[in-house]
Amino acid sequence: MIYSALLSEIDWLRHGFGTRAAPLSQDGMASLKQIHSARVLAAHDAGLVGEGDALVTDQAGLRVSIRTADCYPVLLVDVKTRRVAAVHAGWRGTAAQIVRETLREMQADAKNVRAAIGPGIGKCCYEVGADVARFFGAPTAQSAGHTAKCCIDLAAANRQQLLDAGVDGAHIDVIARCTFCDAENFHSFRRDKESAGRLISYVEIKNTAAEA
Ligand SMILES: [Zn+2]
Repeated sequence: MIYSALLSEIDWLRHGFGTRAAPLSQDGMASLKQIHSARVLAAHDAGLVGEGDALVTDQAGLRVSIRTADCYPVLLVDVKTRRVAAVHAGWRGTAAQIVRETLREMQADAKNVRAAIGPGIGKCCYEVGADVARFFGAPTAQSAGHTAKCCIDLAAANRQQLLDAGVDGAHIDVIARCTFCDAENFHSFRRDKESAGRLISYVEIKNTAAEA
């Protein structure tokens, strides 16, 4: 399991990014039928909430979770209102600014936001065509002048969207692990194709009343 040092500082919070060695199950967690959108849903109970790519809750004891294999898991926390969110950000969701949509749904004041961008496919490996690259301001074949392909950095794009929303750079933790490079620890759809498993990531407000 991978933990964000930044989110680990919040004593009322529990979170994790599952790995191959430490897989998580979504049983007992709120989950989504993920559709590569910028659709944000509110979770009130465990189980399938609906179709979308981000889950928000303010309910203690409820784990909101997403599944990824190259796409980025992003966990968002409002330390003032104690709302939390789990976001699935692939290139489509990132192009549609799903992290900003989620912050809006959380009604979060940017200064209270803490964010962790988990493991996903790195710029080292995420080669895309000009049709995708154009959403990220990446150089196209013409301007790069050599190949028809180029690599985009989805972690950086999501970090930039958070910065643009007003989140302090010191409050954004980028785990910076590439799912494609590191087959021992991570599933990768690009590498393993249809046989790829999924990594589960979650965030939860501790149910302090129940644990006291
Ligand atoms: Zn890589």
